[in-house]
Amino acid sequence: MKKIILLAAVLVSAVSINAQMKPQSTEWYYPQPPKVTPATTLNQPPSDAIVLFDGKDLSKWVSTNGGEAKWNVVDGAIVIVPGTGGIATKEYFGDCQLHIEFKSPAPENYHGQNRGNSGIFLQSTYEVQVLDGDNNPTYVNGMVGSIYKQQAPAVDAYTKNGQWQVYDIYWKAPVFGTGGKLESPAMITVVLNGILIQNNYILKGDTPYIGFPKYEAHGRLPLMLQDHGTGVAFRNIWIRNL
Ligand code: MG
Repeated sequence: MKKIILLAAVLVSAVSINAQMKPQSTEWYYPQPPKVTPATTLNQPPSDAIVLFDGKDLSKWVSTNGGEAKWNVVDGAIVIVPGTGGIATKEYFGDCQLHIEFKSPAPENYHGQNRGNSGIFLQSTYEVQVLDGDNNPTYVNGMVGSIYKQQAPAVDAYTKNGQWQVYDIYWKAPVFGTGGKLESPAMITVVLNGILIQNNYILKGDTPYIGFPKYEAHGRLPLMLQDHGTGVAFRNIWIRNL
């Protein structure tokens, strides 16, 4: 009974406070969000983006096998040279907004996970799958747009083999406290070709091929692109620190 009276009192006081308030009481003017100039051409980097690949060279990247990135630059795109290892950014990132476009190579006789497989590894650890999604059945939590082995995309937004696919990824990095204890898990939103396919998905950990996901403490880490043995192309890669 006491609890009910208390609750009623709280509600009444909230209502009466609201009645006394002006509209201006819940409006604030500072801090002002910084002005950012949007690009005039769709998908081009906005004014505060770090351009990781502008169609010219791999100067922002290194090989995950050590040394210079060994993939090719062809017609304004990065093309994987199978067997040379992944590439990782020289710069380290945490929370970010990432734009990246990819094109699957000709299917040839490849099927499932062997057809146009690559991956976008946020913080070198958490994979957003890159795969040819054109009539290419595979496990759905490993299809294009999946958080690999964790979450299938909400819808299949891939277009056609040979067409550029456009990813926009919004990444909230995991936070680790003392002793490497997980304080808040990673969260991701993924848009493929303008269609929301992962909506604030909370990751269970890393994205291993075998076994269950787990978290291991880390700080800012490079963005990594996977060499999975096929000549996937990438272009127009830019990132914004959040
Ligand atoms: Mg992959």
